[in-house]
Amino acid sequence: MAKESKIRTPIVCVMGHVDHGKTSLLDRIRGSSVVSTEAGAITQHIGATLVPIDAIVRMSGALSKVNVNVPGLLFIDTPGHHAFTTLRARGGALADMAIVVVDINEGFRPQTIEALQILRNYRTPFVIAANKIDRIHGWRVNEGQPFLKTFAQQNERVQGMLETKVYELVGKLSELGFNSERFDRVSDFARNICIVPISALTGEGVPDILMVLIGLAQRYMTESLRVSADGPGAGTVLEVKEERGLGMTLDVILYDGTLKVGDEIVVAGNDQIIETKVRSLLQPRPMKEILIEERFERVKSITAAAGIKVAAPKLEGVIAGSPLRVIRGGNRDEVVEQVRHEIQDIQVNLSDIGVIIRADTIGALEALSKELEGHQIQVMRAAVGPVTRHDVIEAGTIKDPLYSAIIAFNTPVLPDAIDMLADASMSHVSIFEGGVIYQLIDDYVEWREEKKQ
Ligand code: GDP
Ligand code: MG
Repeated sequence: MAKESKIRTPIVCVMGHVDHGKTSLLDRIRGSSVVSTEAGAITQHIGATLVPIDAIVRMSGALSKVNVNVPGLLFIDTPGHHAFTTLRARGGALADMAIVVVDINEGFRPQTIEALQILRNYRTPFVIAANKIDRIHGWRVNEGQPFLKTFAQQNERVQGMLETKVYELVGKLSELGFNSERFDRVSDFARNICIVPISALTGEGVPDILMVLIGLAQRYMTESLRVSADGPGAGTVLEVKEERGLGMTLDVILYDGTLKVGDEIVVAGNDQIIETKVRSLLQPRPMKEILIEERFERVKSITAAAGIKVAAPKLEGVIAGSPLRVIRGGNRDEVVEQVRHEIQDIQVNLSDIGVIIRADTIGALEALSKELEGHQIQVMRAAVGPVTRHDVIEAGTIKDPLYSAIIAFNTPVLPDAIDMLADASMSHVSIFEGGVIYQLIDDYVEWREEKKQ
């Protein structure tokens, strides 16, 4: 008999500049669960929120006449591109789709651009949430309504203002090489990025953004979402946490197959591969049972896509971003090899001569290196962790002084590295530190141009 296959829930990350409304949008999506308490309501997972398709259909009303076979959407609860790059699956991004939140009144800011560049490099489909439309002067709030409904109730001046602001975004996106349109004017999702005007605060446009995501998944990724429902589980470790009464636990996003109590699993530690056995699987308790002493509910098994807490022995030292794989049947060696490979498989093309790059996680390092590659900047060495004295010495001895540089993304410079940098013999070396990739690259390029003169 053929193995049962199914379309799993697509995984969605929320990205964008600080204060543009990422957390508010996630809260809004989660909050709808409190309102819609009937069957099919939104459920809380570990590290994620699941919005089943019937909840989406109910929220979006008449918008939802399309025939859907995607079971819903799983939103990663930690917003930001850091979560996006940490969450890896098979060497790529774990998230199937993303929402880039932009404050419509402020327009693009550095982290907006960075998010777009990361998404382009990973070829991840996304939609733009043009947020805070309720702040447009004279806006009449229609709580929770689909965009076109509330738009029709605004006066001409307000409508004109919104159109202007949307076209400013279209212009900015075009400068970055993306074709985009307001979502209701897009007929080909493959060629145009949808811009959905929303308010995370009033919920206006939120039904539309959910429908656009479903549409994207439905049309362009159903085959890649097909998983074998009862196959061995595969996931990514989101966080490693000690829990009272449970010891060390892993918060895992499962993207393929099934994970069961008693399963033997393989995860990656800092310097070794760890094999262990699942002792318990835990989910958050539903809201209404909040008074019960135990914070978690035990489940026997879980199927992708889902967020789950895993308790097991020997979890000390597991790293965030590590793959998690289930051993089933006689494939132990193969699974161990897969995990080892995934963790080493930092997709950085190294050259004999180039800059040294550092970042705080594997995913961040990969995101940085992809962007450098796009700028034809060669990399000689790439590593996770803070900048060391050894990095400075190595940068100092490189033959081409235009590459005597260290680029440190989201990671500190150790004191003895700073001391070394102050040494007269290292006066030609520079370290570029920061939390926004393209600014780091701009700074490096500017430094290089000055050196050339
Ligand atoms: P984040 O940094 O991207 O997660 O942004 P937050 O969700 O924390 O939002 C930053 C601020 O903007 C908060 O004060 C929110 O209340 C406010 N905010 C977010 N979305 C909206 C919106 O749609 N309308 C209005 N008026 N304020 C919003
Ligand atoms: Mg936030």
